[in-house]
Amino acid sequence: MVAGFALPGIASAAFSQMAQDNSARKPKRFEEVAGFEVEQTVAEHPLAILPLGSLEFHGPHNPLGSDSIIISGIAARVAERTNGLLFPAVTFTQCPAQTANFRGTISVRPEVMSMYFGDILRNILHLGFRKIFVLNGHDGNIGPGRGAIAQVADETKDAALLFASWWEFLPTEMMKTVGMFHQANGGHGHGGPLETSAVAAFRPDLIHLEKARDLPEPPDLSGGAPYFLQKSKAAEWPGYSGSVSEASAEKGRKLVQMSEDGIVKLVENWLKHSDAPGSW
Ligand SMILES: [Zn+2]
Repeated sequence: MVAGFALPGIASAAFSQMAQDNSARKPKRFEEVAGFEVEQTVAEHPLAILPLGSLEFHGPHNPLGSDSIIISGIAARVAERTNGLLFPAVTFTQCPAQTANFRGTISVRPEVMSMYFGDILRNILHLGFRKIFVLNGHDGNIGPGRGAIAQVADETKDAALLFASWWEFLPTEMMKTVGMFHQANGGHGHGGPLETSAVAAFRPDLIHLEKARDLPEPPDLSGGAPYFLQKSKAAEWPGYSGSVSEASAEKGRKLVQMSEDGIVKLVENWLKHSDAPGSW
């Protein structure tokens, strides 16, 4: 970009001021750090933030990068508020068998993913970071991500790695109180109204609600307690659940803010109590 050189002095000064103001509001992004800045950038950021996304079918109405879009957006805001150095999202990841067969899903084997995540984490620690926050946007990353963290923490003497998924900060009871969606589970579910709204908060241009009809919400087998169920195939499931017509960008902006606030609270508490003895 050379246009700045052609501007007269005053306009040029105003232009660079504007550019500075913009950058002041943005998080520092690892991929934008110049080679000569690496040491100083690491020294200025006590925390590395690594978002995990996916490329996965989320119903006919959502983009394949839904998880990556949501988590990149939330991670940028969390990085800004916690002075974290923001790493690019990992997007080619493992998808569960029930979505792997939909056209558009790209899935990497879970054992490959835990090795891959492990190498990324080792390299971030090698840069000099002692704290990494892995901010997850996709169900299939939980197992490999936590497996990688267990391996890497075991190898290092002084590192701490925190893992959390964005939707866990919007528990069913909280979502029911807010009353955004009519579903008994508060709008949760793959490609459902809550997730679709969260995508719309960042990229409303990529949502096509007219392409999806409302479906039943996913059944809750436990009555509220968390559980993990994976199927080799989900016959006759169209790849999403719930009343997606209830989704909107406005709801998405609110629930993304709620999740972001919860995540920032967790990270701030972690950094504040990082020297506390024991595991907690
Ligand atoms: Zn998703």
